[in-house]
Amino acid sequence: MIGVLFLITGTLFGSFANVCILRLPKNENIIFKSSYCPECNNKIDWLNNIPVISYVILRGHSKCCNKKISIQYPLVEFFLGILFLLNYILFDLSQAILLSGFFFLITIVIVIDFNKQIIFDIFPYIIIVFGLLITFFFPTLNPFQVGILNSLFSVVISFTLFLTIRKVFKKVKKKEGLGLGDAKLVTALSAWTGFENFLYLLIISSLIGIIYYFIVKKKRSQEVRIPFGSALGMGFIILLLY
Ligand SMILES: [Zn+2]
Repeated sequence: MIGVLFLITGTLFGSFANVCILRLPKNENIIFKSSYCPECNNKIDWLNNIPVISYVILRGHSKCCNKKISIQYPLVEFFLGILFLLNYILFDLSQAILLSGFFFLITIVIVIDFNKQIIFDIFPYIIIVFGLLITFFFPTLNPFQVGILNSLFSVVISFTLFLTIRKVFKKVKKKEGLGLGDAKLVTALSAWTGFENFLYLLIISSLIGIIYYFIVKKKRSQEVRIPFGSALGMGFIILLLY
């Protein structure tokens, strides 16, 4: 029963994540503005705004202007619904709630970086502050079970490593290869994972990035930019749930 609650709550958070994904890059208010159609700007009433279900009933077309609704909306809702449920199944209740909040944030990061190649500073900052505070005050809540020293060590190592890679890349290739946002995100995540898991995170995320590169490369011939922030986020989720 509580599992169903987690599932439904997850889809609702997914719906809110969609709002953030759509509005943050446009610098719009994410709370005090009711849902609107991104195509025709008409208001969407709650009945046509039920996570996943409305998309299915409306057959993927908006009620107002009959335009195709991006598959991203139900996907994000479904994705978070499943993740919340998995958290409930795999972890104890307080951890499940904490991780669900975490997955909500990381999903927004994944999709915005994928769509727009931006990582808003606020996300790595929240992740690192909570990561260090929780590891210090409530170490049992951190699912990676690392101590604060390990956590701090990983933060220093990962930030130094990524800044160095970034600098070397810039010098050699004379262009931006690795965003500062990516460096901040990897540092923030490493506060949670500790050093050993940070290495696994790098391996998994790089694999995801490489697979993505080859899939897209096959389809188009121009230069492909790997959304490394998205790969890191997915890598982190996989590492946690595996
Ligand atoms: Zn519309």
